[in-house]
Amino acid sequence: MRPSDLLQPRPQGLYCPPGDFFIDPVKPVGRALITHGHADHARAGHGTVMATRETLEIMAIRYGEGFAGSRQEARLGERVAVNGVEVSFHPAGHVLGSAQIRVAQGGRCIVASGDYKRRRDPTCLGFEPIACDVFITEATFGLPVFRHPDDAGEIARLLASLGQFPERTHLVGAYSLGKAQRVIRLLRDAGYAETIYIHGALEKLCAYYESQGIALGPLAPATIDNGGKAAFAGKIVVGPPSAFADRWARRFSDPVSAFASGWMRIRQRAKQRGVELPLILSDHSDWDELVATIADTGASEVWVTHGREEALVRWCEINGIAARPLHLVGYEDEGD
Ligand SMILES: [Zn+2]
Repeated sequence: MRPSDLLQPRPQGLYCPPGDFFIDPVKPVGRALITHGHADHARAGHGTVMATRETLEIMAIRYGEGFAGSRQEARLGERVAVNGVEVSFHPAGHVLGSAQIRVAQGGRCIVASGDYKRRRDPTCLGFEPIACDVFITEATFGLPVFRHPDDAGEIARLLASLGQFPERTHLVGAYSLGKAQRVIRLLRDAGYAETIYIHGALEKLCAYYESQGIALGPLAPATIDNGGKAAFAGKIVVGPPSAFADRWARRFSDPVSAFASGWMRIRQRAKQRGVELPLILSDHSDWDELVATIADTGASEVWVTHGREEALVRWCEINGIAARPLHLVGYEDEGD
């Protein structure tokens, strides 16, 4: 049996013919195994969805309880047969509930890692390397130029700016699932105990993280009802990046525009978005983490997907590992 008999790219996503299921399909299918709750990986309308409890609950928050015909909870590390194919879910370190999916049959095993990172994140379980024959890796930041700095250093830059401009509102753009809660938690870990104001789009997910034991400290809605513009002077407001491009942002006086994303490594991107304070905080692996992870899995073959596939494929070949790009379409990660 070749690995491509076990998992293969189809227009809907990665398909397992013997198990008759898709991993993170981008179109509605009968049976979907889902790695995590970001919108490009977790879509509504599948027949059956198998995912971790947290991912199922996040999908219900985002799409409503009827997001799928039925759901099946995957417990981390537990091997379950799906139409005779052995599947198991393992922590991916990307956002709360995120998992790699291991698929095995006939003595061969493939790990589809979804999105992942290796550095410590106080809002989710850390990535666990899983031994496999074929490792499917993302490549969002798959170029050697991408080396993410230390998280604490980026948060210290935000706090330093707050100290320097005590009358300005600091608007932090952060994706609503994962990044926003991580930024807030990192601020708490850095000793920031004041109320953090949040955009309405973050409320349910922040409340969900809290319910899962991730303490986010005092939060309040960033609405004018809470006082005039002056009420936000010297405060931190966190919202989805899209919110800061529209009318919503105009309620704040003389704001400092910050954006927490791995893409902030590229000055030009920050400039284009009008970001004054770029914070390089990514929920994806940087180059060093990608190549270290490939080595950690011991895989003899690597399939590369969503992102800069070519550089990573070449790195594998130079290092004696068979590799190929998967060319899956439809993944524009909302949580970079
Ligand atoms: Zn993601």
